[in-house]
Amino acid sequence: MRTPIITRGMLIWATACSVVVILSIVSYLLVREYRNTEEDAKRSTLNIVQLINRDIRNTFSIYDSALSNLIELLQTQALSTLTPQIQQALLFDRSNETPSNAGFYVLDAQGKLISRSTPHVRAPDNASLQPWFTAQINPINDELYISQPYLANPHSQDWVLILSRRISAPDGTFAGVAVGQLKLAYFQSLFRGLDIGPSGNISLLGTDGTLVMQYPPTSKISIGQDLSQAPNFIRILNEPFGSFMAMSGIYHHERLFNFAKVHDLPLIVVAAISASSIFNNWQHTALLIGSATLLLCLGLLWLTWLLLRELHLRHSAERELAALASTDPMTGLANRRTLDRTLDLEWRRAQRTGHPVSLIMIDIDHFKSFNDSYGHQAGDEAIRQVAQVIKAHVRRPADLTARYGGEEFALVLTETDAPGTRQLSEKIRLAVEHMAPVMPGHRTLTVSVGTCTRYAKPGEHQDTLLSAADKALYQAKKAGRNRVVNINETGLNALKPKSAS
Ligand code: GH3
Ligand code: MG
Ligand code: MG
Repeated sequence: MRTPIITRGMLIWATACSVVVILSIVSYLLVREYRNTEEDAKRSTLNIVQLINRDIRNTFSIYDSALSNLIELLQTQALSTLTPQIQQALLFDRSNETPSNAGFYVLDAQGKLISRSTPHVRAPDNASLQPWFTAQINPINDELYISQPYLANPHSQDWVLILSRRISAPDGTFAGVAVGQLKLAYFQSLFRGLDIGPSGNISLLGTDGTLVMQYPPTSKISIGQDLSQAPNFIRILNEPFGSFMAMSGIYHHERLFNFAKVHDLPLIVVAAISASSIFNNWQHTALLIGSATLLLCLGLLWLTWLLLRELHLRHSAERELAALASTDPMTGLANRRTLDRTLDLEWRRAQRTGHPVSLIMIDIDHFKSFNDSYGHQAGDEAIRQVAQVIKAHVRRPADLTARYGGEEFALVLTETDAPGTRQLSEKIRLAVEHMAPVMPGHRTLTVSVGTCTRYAKPGEHQDTLLSAADKALYQAKKAGRNRVVNINETGLNALKPKSAS
């Protein structure tokens, strides 16, 4: 039979490989898209953080230079010669340049108010006890001090940051503190102008973990709240800047945190977005592409299954056709075509190996008269029964039983010598003789058998085997039928039947 160009195994392998390749490519693209989305989110929040950072740095440096200017003027002797109004105007001139200022004032060494930028500016009653005051008493402290969020006016919810600098007397002793107040509303307006997305928020924290401002404001957290023990804050504190994905202890979902310390100030800007909002679009895309890929793979598997089924049906049909083409339909034995092919094959094999090949020709005796007496249908049945008897005696898989034509049969025996062939032929002859009568009242059928065993010589044609066996059969008929005649290399050898008369 013809070997199919596409085998079942090839088809299954090709489909499996295609499915694996498709899934790998789609997975790779989705993972790459996921990373790109994450990177984009990191980049955009980092830009926001840097923008805020720069603005805060500028604002604080304006405040610092206004305070430094105020202190320099205070330390100038010539100031005392001016009227109090001019003194006040000069001292707080630079404070007008500061954004969102809630007033400047000067305290003496005891914390008593000496001067202020506007009459309604209030200094705390117990200023000398405030950390932003006491920190400046230390003579080696020459830095801008930034307080925790402070409620300047409890009735108006005016939160401020107090920025203080030390005033030193000419001999270096502590002479008081210059103070500038920055409204926290400044940060709110700064953060409000930046688009962090619907689920994002921007926070300003002190390095001690105090929340200075968060935008948009939330009821979950309030200004001045201590976050120093929050795991995410501890993580932020260890690096000057960075970003990471972590579970939020406040919002209880995963968020992308981007943070940076504000230069040399004790402040940290944190921008955070929820992971679900970052990956929302990606999830939709992944779902769409994933479903389409799954459908594609299922379609591919289904097509393969259809193709496999078709292949199976085609192979079965081809096998059936091949069987039909090689079989005699009446007896189920091999037909003449198969006999010729097998004989040719075995003859050439025998030429190569040097083993003997035997051919047995069997012909039903006086079959014409049987046909004439009982009809053609009974004749067909008789041929079938004889065929079954012959087939039952041929057990070696390499041997072939064929219907040669009409009521004649042929057997090809491989690697079987003359005695073995004769023995099998005699067994068949006897079995037919002892077969139950095909028709009631009819005497038993008999067969005549002619056999030939040959050692195929190179160049010799298999027809010599065929004609020798045919000749032996003719001899058997001539000698009285119901007998086996063998022609081998040495010549004629007839075996007389014991039961033959
Ligand atoms: P013998 O071989 O003993 O010399 O005598 P015979 O009567 O068998 O002689 P022959 O071989 O000449 O006749 C064969 C007969 O077999 C001829 C035909 O009527 C019959 N025959 C051949 N093929 C078939 C077949 O397929 N079916 C039936 N029913 N009869 C067939
Ligand atoms: Mg005949
Ligand atoms: Mg005959």
